[in-house]
Amino acid sequence: AFDVLVVGGGPAGAAAAIYAARKGIRTAIAAERFGGQVLDTMAIENFISVKETEGPKLVRALEEHVKEYEVDVMNLQRASALVPASSEGGLHEVKFENGASLKAKTVILSTGARWREMGVPGEQEYKAKGVCFCPHCDGPLFKGKRVAVIGGGNSGVEAAIDLAGIVAHVTLLEFADTLRADAVLQKKLFSLPNVTVIKSAQTTEVTGDGQKVNGLVYKDRTTEEQHRVELEGIFVQIGLLPNSDWLKGTVELSRFGEIVVDAKGATNIPGVFAAGDVTTVPYKQIVIAMGEGSKASLSAFDHLIRHS
Ligand code: FAD
Repeated sequence: AFDVLVVGGGPAGAAAAIYAARKGIRTAIAAERFGGQVLDTMAIENFISVKETEGPKLVRALEEHVKEYEVDVMNLQRASALVPASSEGGLHEVKFENGASLKAKTVILSTGARWREMGVPGEQEYKAKGVCFCPHCDGPLFKGKRVAVIGGGNSGVEAAIDLAGIVAHVTLLEFADTLRADAVLQKKLFSLPNVTVIKSAQTTEVTGDGQKVNGLVYKDRTTEEQHRVELEGIFVQIGLLPNSDWLKGTVELSRFGEIVVDAKGATNIPGVFAAGDVTTVPYKQIVIAMGEGSKASLSAFDHLIRHS
């Protein structure tokens, strides 16, 4: 059995594995796809101390750093269930879809999240070529340009307010006939001169010139008419889905499906910790995931010295 088993190989999981291995304890990391969301990212300009990098390059560096230590790395392993220890100090078990299972004294859950997509033509083709999901990450790339935000919930309206300070113009498109964001955010939004809000708008297509996005098409749901908006960027803000389905009924989840953690990264199950985008910790970013992964690992170590 391992002392620490990390499930998930994004920035949170990689940081957790390195911190654990540096304590000289038996550490393993099992991931469906080592690198996580970072693999799908092009330019990264907010990984502090690195002015500019690219996702795949950062993933290679993560992998090299993890491999500096005695960590059992198991890639292409999708966890399907967690069976918590039946008694304190006992072993937790993680089951995998391929039938394998691993046991460990402590487990760190870092299975991340994924952005909900619109599922319209052009969206996949123009991902990272104008179709974005993270205003904190990619907003500055559209300085002085025109963008749309899809979604009028809190994240969509926050994104629109944030982007309005950077870009030339923001069009916010909401599917329903009202915005769902908090009143205070809406008030701020409607006070901004360079934001247009269109309600009852169903985005039906992302268009581009083959290289980059050049517009979108939406249907006015009240008149059924199609309209086109010319722009350079689209921020899709229709939800972030935590990869926690496999933990339902075992670990306490928030109503959004995020693993509930305390300030030390502890879940409701003693010896089971969590970190990164899959948790209730706000602001889903690489530096935050790494910090949280390190923290969860130190908490796991603390748990081990007290309980075994
Ligand atoms: P993830 O990166 O999501 O990793 C999760 C890991 O768990 C993966 O290895 C995955 O395969 C694995 N996994 C999932 N389910 C299972 C399972 N059941 N069993 C086993 N393994 C599983 N942040 C920034 O700071 N700057 C940026 O510029 C930036 N740009 C972004 C651009 C895009 C397009 C996207 C999608 C995100 C971007 N982000 C950016 C956000 C950043 O990528 C995330 O905050 C960060 O990757 C979260 O790390 P994580 O380790 O918690 O999760």
